[in-house]
Amino acid sequence: MGLVDTHCHLQDRAFDEDREAVIARALDALEWVVVIGDSLASSEAAAALTREGVFAAVGVHPYHPEQVDDAGVAVLRELAKRPGVVAIGEIGLDYYKHNNAPRDAQQEAFRRQLDLAVELILPVVIHNRDSHEDLAAILDAYAGRLPGGIMHCFAGDAAFVERCLQWGFHVSFAGNLTFPKAGAVREAARAVPLNRLLVETDSPYLAPQPVRGKRCEPAYVAHTAATLAEVFGLAPEDLASRTTENARELFRIS
Ligand SMILES: [Zn+2]
Repeated sequence: MGLVDTHCHLQDRAFDEDREAVIARALDALEWVVVIGDSLASSEAAAALTREGVFAAVGVHPYHPEQVDDAGVAVLRELAKRPGVVAIGEIGLDYYKHNNAPRDAQQEAFRRQLDLAVELILPVVIHNRDSHEDLAAILDAYAGRLPGGIMHCFAGDAAFVERCLQWGFHVSFAGNLTFPKAGAVREAARAVPLNRLLVETDSPYLAPQPVRGKRCEPAYVAHTAATLAEVFGLAPEDLASRTTENARELFRIS
């Protein structure tokens, strides 16, 4: 069994020139991919890209909480019911930059989309940057109600891995795992049980070593998977079958 990329943004304008070629390379190298929305428009675009081997998640990133009003939630609800849409995401909190959306608006948009995931019985794809405490408080309040989820592009410590596991989440690693200075992330990764482990690219961002700095694409997930296999002392093919099986179960892809 080959690898999957559980998190890519193939609808991004970075792929406007050669999107079909990128998808072809992805499906050549991988079992399947999940295209993740980060706004209403990009969620619509993600849903439109679904086909055999291409699934989608729909959701609004914390950069755009103003989109998650009643009308926005209605749009997401309709998109989420389309065939090939397997999750709500990416949603969450991002306190990294001072000019980000107000925190209370981010939290409200996050809760509304968590409610939608509970309503539709879909797993969630979580974005978290410099917002551990508030994110944890919100997710604690949903304990036992969410039908699974992914802490995407994990960059926390072992204690935060433990929180993710308590929420019933999977933990997904992107290209930053491979960076020479990311020893702490690799150390934290060891705390993830094999049945909760996932791998992703976050394309077009975060290309792994040795293609770091280039536009990332799903086929590059093999580099991150190779590092993850080293961390766990597994053969690459065992890491691939484990993570792909985990993703298949989580997204209920047969
Ligand atoms: Zn993303």
